Amino acid sequence: MEKHPPRPLKRHVIFPFHYDPSQKTVFVAASISDEPGTLAALLTLLSKRVNLIGTSSYTLGQDAASFSCYGSLLSDDTTAQSLQKELMASARVVSCQVWESEEGLIVDRYHTGFQAGVGEPYVVFPNKGLSDTFEGVVRVFGSGGSTLLYDLGLSYAKARAGIYRKIIGPHAESRIDELAFIVTALGYGLSEATFDSNYEALRLTSRECFECSTPSECKRQCNFLRGMAAGIFGPLFGVEVVSQETRCRHLGDDLCEFVIKAKDERPLVR
Ligand SMILES: [Zn+2]
Repeated sequence: MEKHPPRPLKRHVIFPFHYDPSQKTVFVAASISDEPGTLAALLTLLSKRVNLIGTSSYTLGQDAASFSCYGSLLSDDTTAQSLQKELMASARVVSCQVWESEEGLIVDRYHTGFQAGVGEPYVVFPNKGLSDTFEGVVRVFGSGGSTLLYDLGLSYAKARAGIYRKIIGPHAESRIDELAFIVTALGYGLSEATFDSNYEALRLTSRECFECSTPSECKRQCNFLRGMAAGIFGPLFGVEVVSQETRCRHLGDDLCEFVIKAKDERPLVR
């Protein structure tokens, strides 16, 4: 069969909890030895008892690794207890605990949060919730609220610019695609970045931008992201920049576009 690359435009699916009242599900957390073949052996063992819904595994250092998964039980004869006993009997498993769903809900009782990139902790927030929160700021403070959100996006990104400089290196202009993919993968919206001729401007587009993911009565635009764009790309190019949002879903456009230019109107890359 001809193989294709993975289908694009797919969001990460993460499982802090899983809800499916139609079947019995389990959450498995295990410490395993970090040796070649261990994960494959564990997956083979599990595949006899559960239909895997989502898995996560990573090294803990010192020859140890962490494995966790959600799965639906394949047989009524299998329980969380019996599965745990079976996994513990495996020489590959150092320790393990299995929890069973109650009334359709199964929760990750092992992890204490998320981390990404350089190991920073993250919080996960629904797009609509954050968009509505920003809407509330502009509803109360009017145009001052939009300015506030811009300033907050700017200072937030400026404080993080060092991290981006470290991972992207001194020639950000040659790695602009990677930055756009980082922004996309972090869930800000499907992002693309292109330079105008001679680096006169950087155009960032975002489809499904989180900031305008709910309707706006105040006709606000994506000021937090506009500030963030200035706060990231100014320090990356080492120039003072201005950031404008020239298209926005809240203006009836099908995507948001942010245009970054140097304040002194010279090229961004010198
Ligand atoms: Zn927008």
